[in-house]
Amino acid sequence: MDIAIDTTSLLGLRHVKTGILRAASESYLSRHDILTRLPNRLLFAEELKRTFLTSHRSGTDFALHLLDLGRFKDINDNHGHAVGDEVIQTVARRLRGRLRKSDFIARIGGDEFAVIQRPLVGRQQAVDLITAIQAAMRVPCAAGNTDVEVALAIGVAVAPSDGKTSTELMKCADVALYAAKSDPDSNYRFYDTGIKDSRAERRALEGALRNAHENKEFVLFYQPILDLATNRIWGCEALVRWNHPVKGMVAPLEFIPTAEESGLIGPIGDWILDEACSAAMTWDRPLKVAINLSPVQFKRRDVFASVKRALATSGMPARRLVLEITESVKLTEEATATLTRLKALGVSIALDDFGTGYASMSYLRSFPFDKIKIDQSFVRGMMGSPDSRAIIKATIGLANDLKMSTTAEGVETEEQLNALRLAGASQAQGYLIAKPMSRDAIASFIADHERAQSNGQGKKLPVRAIA
Ligand code: C2E
Ligand code: CA
Ligand code: CA
Repeated sequence: MDIAIDTTSLLGLRHVKTGILRAASESYLSRHDILTRLPNRLLFAEELKRTFLTSHRSGTDFALHLLDLGRFKDINDNHGHAVGDEVIQTVARRLRGRLRKSDFIARIGGDEFAVIQRPLVGRQQAVDLITAIQAAMRVPCAAGNTDVEVALAIGVAVAPSDGKTSTELMKCADVALYAAKSDPDSNYRFYDTGIKDSRAERRALEGALRNAHENKEFVLFYQPILDLATNRIWGCEALVRWNHPVKGMVAPLEFIPTAEESGLIGPIGDWILDEACSAAMTWDRPLKVAINLSPVQFKRRDVFASVKRALATSGMPARRLVLEITESVKLTEEATATLTRLKALGVSIALDDFGTGYASMSYLRSFPFDKIKIDQSFVRGMMGSPDSRAIIKATIGLANDLKMSTTAEGVETEEQLNALRLAGASQAQGYLIAKPMSRDAIASFIADHERAQSNGQGKKLPVRAIA
């Protein structure tokens, strides 16, 4: 089926009607990829159906390999499309060189190829082909003036055992390909029923999250933050949970990544802002409320508008609001401008999880943060490790010089609290003071604490820890 039209010989055929010629070339063009001259997706689909029929008739097996070029987008971005095109042509040539006459190859997407290995006599034959292909790929592709390293991930499904129709077989090979791509130890996978279709799981979670938002299943918990100079509550950090009807409270790390990937963090994040500001308005004292912002909110949402709306609806003054961001928020010109406008409103900006990223120092320089939150990993290590202690001390010193305050996170013992006090941290947050608690519980916690303060028992914190 992989026919190239030789124009000179065609031109020699004077008697062929131009209509037939045009029809032939149109049919060729619609079924082939111009760049590699390989069959395209359309011809591949027809050929896969045909292979099912013939293999059924002859009672033989065949294998479908889906091949995906790793980081092809980077190759295009870094070296330009001309180099990208050359790489694709080289890969196509190398692949074709490893196949038998009876096999079939197509380019079915920008950086995707499909191979039908037919007939297949035992799985080992498929493994041998993959080994040969991977060996061929180890030689970098010379393109333009550079050598480009290419990697291929391969997903394989065998017919008829894995799938009895084209659709079924394609799905299996695709699931295997996805598994191969996400597995750093191996670059190919055979389909088996045990492979988890992680994309299907993600789609299911995405749907569930959408419902959860509509059914108002998200709740905010609040964790008090202690001011070390006054020993009074300084404010609370709002932490989201999913109150799942069957699973109970689900931790944010289990659903925030999917909410981010799907963009659902936009509406959910807006709800978090609204809910936290309205809850803070029920407290006995005008304490601060800290809210975590996801990088995706900066990319996809008008954070400034969302914050302004939450403040206006709740009536909470901007100076009570603290927004926590991590280094994963890319400080583009636009993001920096948003943060600057928020600061001008009176909102504080805190740098969360300080010290865990790759470039904490340069990040610190790129925006005048109001506060640094020292990551709990340093606090946890501080009693046993002089390194953690040194990092904490240095961070507090740096923050002081930059006129920023510091909150130490994850404080679980009196010993840690005292050491942090000595080191000069401004605030502490952690299970020692209290665990995150519900909207109602935090309101009474603040009221109780206030009462204890006015009775002169300021040093004794009511510990009413709720998971
Ligand atoms: P984070 O911002 O660093 O939040 C602090 C986490 O440490 C919370 O976990 C809190 O429950 C936990 N924690 C507090 N004190 C202690 C302690 O003494 N010991 C230990 N071992 N842990 C302590 P949580 O609530 O599971 O939240 C995890 C992460 O999920 C947060 O880390 C934050 O990155 C993200 N997250 C939570 N709520 C939100 C939200 O509303 N929006 C966004 N975008 N992310 C959120
Ligand atoms: Ca935080
Ligand atoms: Ca943190």
